[in-house]
Amino acid sequence: MTKTYKPATLAAQALGDIDETTQALIPPIYTSTTYVRAPDNQYPTGNVYSRADNPTYDPAERLLCALEKGSDAMLFSSGMAAAVAVFQALSTGDHVIAPKVMYWSLRNWLQSWSQQWQVSVDFVDMTDLAAVKAALKPGKTRLIWAESPANPLWSVVDIAALADLAQAVDARLAVDSTVATPVLTQPLTLGADIVMHSATKYLNGHSDVIAGALVTAVADDFWARLVKNRSQGGGVMGPVEAALLLRGMRTLTLRVHQTCRSALWLAQQLEQHPHVEQVLYPGLPSFAGHELAARQMQGGFGGMLSVRVKGGESAAIAVAAKVSLWKRATSLGGVESLIEHRASIEGEGTPVPADLLRLSVGIEDTDDLWQDLCKALDESA
Ligand SMILES: *Cc1c(COP(=O)(O)O)cnc(C)c1O
Repeated sequence: MTKTYKPATLAAQALGDIDETTQALIPPIYTSTTYVRAPDNQYPTGNVYSRADNPTYDPAERLLCALEKGSDAMLFSSGMAAAVAVFQALSTGDHVIAPKVMYWSLRNWLQSWSQQWQVSVDFVDMTDLAAVKAALKPGKTRLIWAESPANPLWSVVDIAALADLAQAVDARLAVDSTVATPVLTQPLTLGADIVMHSATKYLNGHSDVIAGALVTAVADDFWARLVKNRSQGGGVMGPVEAALLLRGMRTLTLRVHQTCRSALWLAQQLEQHPHVEQVLYPGLPSFAGHELAARQMQGGFGGMLSVRVKGGESAAIAVAAKVSLWKRATSLGGVESLIEHRASIEGEGTPVPADLLRLSVGIEDTDDLWQDLCKALDESA
C-alpha cells in the first residue's frame, strides 16, 4: 500500500492490513507476555517475550515508519523513554549538540545525565547554523539533537543544513518532530538519521495514552543498540495503549490539518489584539523563521502557538485564569485546546519569558475558541 497511496490514505486504513486468521478489519490486541517455542526449539513468528516484541506494536510501528519514510520504527512507553534511549546509546566521552530552547524535561534530564555519564553537551541556538558549526568537535561530536518547531517559542531549524553539518563530522542528526508530525515535515527525507515523537501528543491525539516512538533512516549498528536498549531496558508500551495509539493515528491527517487552519487564524487575530505584545507562530510573516518554515513544512505550520501578553507575568496568568473553553493544562496535540503559563511549569532557570502563554489548538469550532480567548484578554486587561 505504501508505494501507491498518499499518507492520509495510509493512516486512515493503518496500511490496509486485515487480520489473516479472523479477517478482522481492526488488528487484535495481544495481551500475552510470552510465546510458545516450536518443537524444533525455534520461535516461528520471531516473538519471544513481550518486553522485546508484541504483535500489537507492529501495525503502529509500520504505519509510523511509512509516514516518516523510514526503514524501521519502535514504540516506547513514553516520548521521554524514546529520547533517553537515543542518548543512552552514546558512549562516555562523546560530545552532543542540543538546542538552547527545547522540550524542558528532556533538557533537564540531559543536563544531569550527561554529567553523570561524562558525555559533554553544548546547548546552542540551532537557528544559527554558524553557531552549530562552531560547536562541532570533529571526532568527538556523535549526535546533533534538534527540535522543530521547538517548544515553546516554536523556532524552526533547517533540518537539511543540520544534516549536512552532522554528516561532515560523521555525527548523527536526531530530530524531535513531535510538534511538526509526519503530516507537516518528514525529517528523514531531509537527511536526518532518527526521528523522535512523543506519541502522547498529535500521533495519539486524544490525551489518553502516554507513548513515544523512534524512526530510523537506516537500520544500522546504532539502531541495533537502540533495539537492545528497549528490549533489555523494558521501556515498552502496554498492548492496549499501542492499540489506542493506532486508533488515534487513523485520524492524524484530519486533526493536524484542522488544527493548522485554526492556529493560523487565531494567530492572525491575536496579533491584532490590543492586549497582546507578540504572537509566536511559524505561520506568521512576522515570525523570525517564517520563510524557512514555509519551505520546510508542507500543508501548514502546526497547531502550537505562544502569546506574550501585555502587562507581564500577572497579566498572562490572569488571562489563563479567565478562559473557560480552553483548559488550563500542560501537554499538547490533543483534540481539546489547552492553555498554559509555561514559565510556571518550567520553573527556575527557564529561558521562557514570564508573560508567555502556550496554546495547543484543538479541533473545536475556531470561532468558539476565539470568543473565549478574546473575552479573557478583554476582562483581564
Ligand atoms: C511531550 C513532549 C516530549 C516528552 O514526551 P512524553 O510522552 O511526555 O514522555 C518530548 N518532546 C516534546 C516536543 C514534547 O512535547
